[in-house]
Amino acid sequence: MSSLVLAQRHPDDSARRWQQELSNLITEPEELLHLLGLSPDDVSMPADVLRAFPLKVPRPFVARMRPGDARDPLLLQVLPSAQESDDTPGYGFDPLSEADFNPQPGILHKYQGRVLVLAAPHCAVHCRYCFRRHFPYQDHVPGRQVWEQNLQWLAGQPQISEVIYSGGDPLAASDRHLAWLTDRISEIPHIGRLRIHTRTPVLVPARVDDNLLAWLRDSRLQKVMVIHCNHANEIDAEVIDAMQRLRDAGVTLLNQSVLLSGVNDSVQALADLSEALFAASVLPYYLHALDKVQGVAHFDVGEEQARDLIMALKQRLPGYLVPRLVREIPGEASKTGLL
Ligand SMILES: *Cc1c(COP(=O)(O)O)cnc(C)c1O
Ligand code: SF4
Repeated sequence: MSSLVLAQRHPDDSARRWQQELSNLITEPEELLHLLGLSPDDVSMPADVLRAFPLKVPRPFVARMRPGDARDPLLLQVLPSAQESDDTPGYGFDPLSEADFNPQPGILHKYQGRVLVLAAPHCAVHCRYCFRRHFPYQDHVPGRQVWEQNLQWLAGQPQISEVIYSGGDPLAASDRHLAWLTDRISEIPHIGRLRIHTRTPVLVPARVDDNLLAWLRDSRLQKVMVIHCNHANEIDAEVIDAMQRLRDAGVTLLNQSVLLSGVNDSVQALADLSEALFAASVLPYYLHALDKVQGVAHFDVGEEQARDLIMALKQRLPGYLVPRLVREIPGEASKTGLL
């Protein structure tokens, strides 16, 4: 009976599952609180903050939060806070000066040999610490016509060997679009690597379906995926399974996190994260000091404390499980190590 049902399934069924997840996000504060058994007295979500950067969180991510805990490390990453309205000196609106490194619409070129491509305008989530929360994505995500120009531009940059899909979140885009883009990029002989920076496989593991794996596996490019995971509790059995399938498709898996006050600013949390990542076949890559964008100051962990955390982590873990502590400084030729 069940095999008959399976056999009759439409070939696009699995694709629809992740798309359903992404169109069925939690955007109402009341629903989030209800699901977690919290009351409006436990948390404050001011209307002006919600208007400026609405609540947006996928259900599979909420399922990994601890019910009844207003300080849950996953919840804190998506929970709007009154402190986002604070006007903090030293915090800007384009802290990375990204507007200065825009040779083509949808392309950011800051570092030698690699170029960042904004492959989708949106994310499956609104992370409250997001460094691009003020970035005008809609002006920067091109249609196919502009892509043709971008591909031409890329073909004329022989020093670039790696294309990085970024966003927004590139995996919010359809596989049809990504397969097309990847195919066209792979026709450029000097491009050897494709890197995908994405938070979606952790948020919505169903995104890692056969359609995604097919174009990844088929591409001649070497594939690297950098997942954005900040806490061990984000990694459940479904995420581990998704990582396994990516690895089987020939994708090298790395993680980058942001050091966030209240979320992962302890040696224990960072050690647990590295262990959980490795158990899922993912190696830690970067631990980012927070980019100083207005509205996120309450997540900041001082550089002194950040260094202490990494020093302590080094004593506890093998070197390959210790992420590089970095900050992005506009105008520098790479991320800047803080240790
Ligand atoms: C961070 C970043 C990269 C990638 O840097 P790596 O050190 O290679 O990980 C590339 N381009 C831009 C614009 C970036 O911000
Ligand atoms: S996934 Fe990244 S780009 Fe998207 S909201 Fe979160 S931090 Fe910002």
